Amino acid sequence: MNMFCFQCQEAAQGKGCTKVGMCGKTADLAALQDLMIYSLKGISELGVKADEIGMDMEGLDRFIIEGLFMTITNTNFDKERFFEKIKEALKLRDKLKAQLIERKVELGELADAATFIVNSKDEIVYKASSEKVGVLATENEDIRSLRELITYGFKGMAAYAEHADNLGYYDPKIGKFIRKALAATLDDSLTVDDLVALTLETGKYGVDTMALLDKANTSTYGNPEITEVNIGVRNNPAI
Ligand code: SF4
Repeated sequence: MNMFCFQCQEAAQGKGCTKVGMCGKTADLAALQDLMIYSLKGISELGVKADEIGMDMEGLDRFIIEGLFMTITNTNFDKERFFEKIKEALKLRDKLKAQLIERKVELGELADAATFIVNSKDEIVYKASSEKVGVLATENEDIRSLRELITYGFKGMAAYAEHADNLGYYDPKIGKFIRKALAATLDDSLTVDDLVALTLETGKYGVDTMALLDKANTSTYGNPEITEVNIGVRNNPAI
């Protein structure tokens, strides 16, 4: 089984991990992480339509943030957790779709990410390794790179936003932007210029997210101050 991941600076030969991650991520786990992101994009596509009728999306936005955070380098290598999370994502996605249909929202032609069905672990594994899922699913290299750049921006933002949320600081504007822009990575009508603009906007929200975490940290723990620490050698192994 092959994989393709180039989301961090440890990528093999500075290009991408293709057999196994330099971080230890295996190809089957990489496929599950890709399907996780793909499922979140499907929720996001529907979530943008939910905004049109003013539905409260905060719970789903938090779910998306948690899912993104799970796929950061070395954060979670537990395959069972990904199986569970993907199943949960599809349940939430389909519930949202049913709510939108009930409220007569025009869904139009939805992407595969918002419609695919899997009924068992085997089907999840099969879908996760399909050509439609994962980084290389986008053929045009410029579009692919920009989509991934935006997605990796969200992964970092998700880590900060989740930490801030755990300290009681949450900004709904950040979750809403992530959802809107994740949905945009499914949109084949967007040009390189459109995606460059979205990348810059992602950067702006990234700064906002760092400011939110800074506020959460300093409000909770106080401002950092110069402190004496022991940097001597000890017996325990450590980095
Ligand atoms: S996250 Fe792991 S698999 Fe992906 S590029 Fe980094 S080292 Fe390679």
